[in-house]
Amino acid sequence: MRSATGWERTQVAQSDPECLFCKIVVGEVPAEIVREGERTVAFRDINPQAPTHVLVIPREHHPDVAAAARAGTGLVDELAREAQEVARGEGIGSDYRLVFNTGTGAGQTVFHVHAHLLGGRGMEWPPG
Ligand code: IMP
Repeated sequence: MRSATGWERTQVAQSDPECLFCKIVVGEVPAEIVREGERTVAFRDINPQAPTHVLVIPREHHPDVAAAARAGTGLVDELAREAQEVARGEGIGSDYRLVFNTGTGAGQTVFHVHAHLLGGRGMEWPPG
């Protein structure tokens, strides 16, 4: 299946058939895609916490950011670069927050690594 952005929605080598975000990668679950690359997909969060709330994920399945980093293929760098491109596209330039919730205790609910790109409003620190 071809997506709106023209990238082929095919199963990637490292995939978990039970994973919600793997299903978004292959087009089995619909999502509002904002940007796609050879190794990444960015789509709007279904429950946005800011005017811009986009999830940037790798096509291949890694349960969290540490696992993606351990793969040693530059994937985490690429997520950060893609997030910057999405922010530019959203018109928020370089003012945004990038969050990787890691582990249930930190609020991770979907165990396919994703960067939350949040922006378009003032951000407070510390986060809740
Ligand atoms: P986590 O809590 O850091 O794991 O983030 C998971 C995020 O995925 C949450 O912000 C959810 O709102 C979001 N989410 C869950 N299901 C979907 C979906 O089907 N489409 C888009 N976002 C989703």
